[in-house]
Amino acid sequence: MIKVFNTMSRTKEIFKPLKTGEVSIYCCGVTPYSSPHIGNARPFVIWDVIRRFFAKSGYKVRYVQNFTDVDDKIIKAANKHGVTWKDIAEKNIAVYFKCMDALNVRRADIYPRVSETMDDIIRMIQTLVDKGFAYVLEGGDVFYSVEKIPHYGKLSRRTLDDMMAGARVAVDERKHHPMDFALWKSAKPDEPAWDSPWGKGRPGWHIECSAMSLKFLGEKFDFHGGGSDLIFPHHENEIAQSQAALGDENSFAQYWVHNGFITIGNEKASKSNEEQQSKKTLFTVEEILAKYPGEVVRLLLLQTHYRNPLEFSESRLVEAQEFFGKLARAYWQLDTLARKIHAGEFIKDTAEKNFAITVSRAGGLVEEGERLLSNFYAAMSDDFNTALAITYMFELAGEISDYYGEFTAGKILPVTIDGDIILRVRDIYLEMADILGIFEQPVPVEQAEEISDDQSELVNALMKIILDLRQDARSAKNWATADKIRDELKAAGIVVEDTPQGAIWHKA
Ligand SMILES: [Zn+2]
Repeated sequence: MIKVFNTMSRTKEIFKPLKTGEVSIYCCGVTPYSSPHIGNARPFVIWDVIRRFFAKSGYKVRYVQNFTDVDDKIIKAANKHGVTWKDIAEKNIAVYFKCMDALNVRRADIYPRVSETMDDIIRMIQTLVDKGFAYVLEGGDVFYSVEKIPHYGKLSRRTLDDMMAGARVAVDERKHHPMDFALWKSAKPDEPAWDSPWGKGRPGWHIECSAMSLKFLGEKFDFHGGGSDLIFPHHENEIAQSQAALGDENSFAQYWVHNGFITIGNEKASKSNEEQQSKKTLFTVEEILAKYPGEVVRLLLLQTHYRNPLEFSESRLVEAQEFFGKLARAYWQLDTLARKIHAGEFIKDTAEKNFAITVSRAGGLVEEGERLLSNFYAAMSDDFNTALAITYMFELAGEISDYYGEFTAGKILPVTIDGDIILRVRDIYLEMADILGIFEQPVPVEQAEEISDDQSELVNALMKIILDLRQDARSAKNWATADKIRDELKAAGIVVEDTPQGAIWHKA
């Protein structure tokens, strides 16, 4: 049973998919006019985890996310740089994908763009005009009439009077009601324009998501996501458009899932915040990724429940890096044990008197793993609580490291049954990692070195024995043995160099 906090009802509801075993999701995407900032990235990382969680839970997931590639800000940037709006959009969509790849965000099933969905957008506006929910002004502007729909404001729970009081709307005398919003904007000089029944122009912002979700997910779909700043007016207007066009108050999204803001210095991350733009703090995803691994950034974003605000700072990144290091260390330890198992180093020897103790120790580890995996799923099933789920993974990491410590200290003997158990624990650990979307990239060198600290002592001791034996062979002029040792070490990835001070070694 999966519970979801639905912004529409303001309660946690039991999720009932429209189609058994399937989940359909629409998430509002970016306006590609500049490099995405950390606040922009949050919803996409969250939805990536939700998708992974549903997929692991056996659902077939369809995920649609748009690009608002026709927009005031894009046109402004294009005119400023003397390029086309398409150049600006293409360039920033490429940057967006580069950032998302670094954050392990899997691609959506489809990324509709406004410029490529124009026919569907125009068709929906025409439907709204035909049904009397929209009106056309002289000159070709088309507006949605908010008074025509009785439930306008149901998502943000505000009446038209509340909205009027809260909004600083520039008075446009041509509108029937101040809260009416543009569906189609007539063409202006130096702006891209498309043909329509109302003359050349381009769509208003809100209509694209109504048209795209209908085209790619149908009249009803399960989830609609986005930042909580989109609740009003964007999502409110999407509901008004779609439900009026479809003539069905139950159509469109069934569950509204909104993520909290990212704050920097306790202020919402925003490109209009001058302090944040001053470069004194990390702000764009590109800037952050230049200093920190994508998986660390991803983990930090998931360590706070998606509905809560998240204060972003470099010190929190440093903490997340340490935390990630501990998780990665346990992963590396499991990997090391698994390699030993595959190499046949775990040999069952029932004559060994410690056998019973060994089996029960590893068996306990599996029991812990199963318990923590079940807790992990329970946390994810309770409104996608990644923050809690991560703590269970961390707990398992601690158990693994304890076991590994006992193993390397020789307190646990390698036996076959341990091998099977360790592989099961590794599966459990990787199942958690797979849902959270970590361990998909090579661990950065400096972290790998830190991770292998406890191994390096052992390796150094072994290498000293081997090089001493080789020196003995050389002293006895047994060149064949000395060369054999050197060549076999080389084949194993270790280079031996003879220096006046003696032989030294390093990894190839
Ligand atoms: Zn949208």
